[in-house]
Amino acid sequence: MSLAQYRHWVFDMDGTLTIAVHDFAAIRVALEIPPEDDILHHLAALPEDEAAAKHAWLLAHERELALNATPATGALDLVRELHGRGCQLGILTRNAHELALLTLQAIGLDDCFASADILGRGEAPPKPHPGGLLHLAERWQVAPGELVMVGDYRFDLDCGRAAGAATVLVNLPENPWPELVDWHARDCGELLRLSRG
Ligand SMILES: [Mg+2]
Repeated sequence: MSLAQYRHWVFDMDGTLTIAVHDFAAIRVALEIPPEDDILHHLAALPEDEAAAKHAWLLAHERELALNATPATGALDLVRELHGRGCQLGILTRNAHELALLTLQAIGLDDCFASADILGRGEAPPKPHPGGLLHLAERWQVAPGELVMVGDYRFDLDCGRAAGAATVLVNLPENPWPELVDWHARDCGELLRLSRG
């Protein structure tokens, strides 16, 4: 199947539609999380009050980042054109839903996504779990194989594979995970050209 035939597109946010600005090393230092630990998993395992305080810090930090988000190369044209073609568009992010919305507003794409199609860490299990994609497939009443998952990291690709969706890697000059990737585009501008067939 060519990429032009896909009508249901799901995007990662940070580093995919926006220029990645999360400094995960600094977040780990601020929250006293060991370098080898997954941030969300680590917080989930803490005592309730400590977890709540650290989640609040993380949310405030991420809100600042969201307000200052800038679009990745070609991302605005890509999303606008897919939206204009009548494609269903979703977001699957490890960020919080309200921050994903803020980010989309900051880069001027919030009108292209229905709020219920923006899945954050409160609405879906974190990638690489395929639950978010399966949820969107059900919402849109299509088979998971009709979805394209677009991302810049292996969790996005693993998630797509686990759901049975097509996968696209963007924003890396080389493809480190050929076994996980159906299409590779250097940026969203190249992906837009691929999506035209
Ligand atoms: Mg990303």
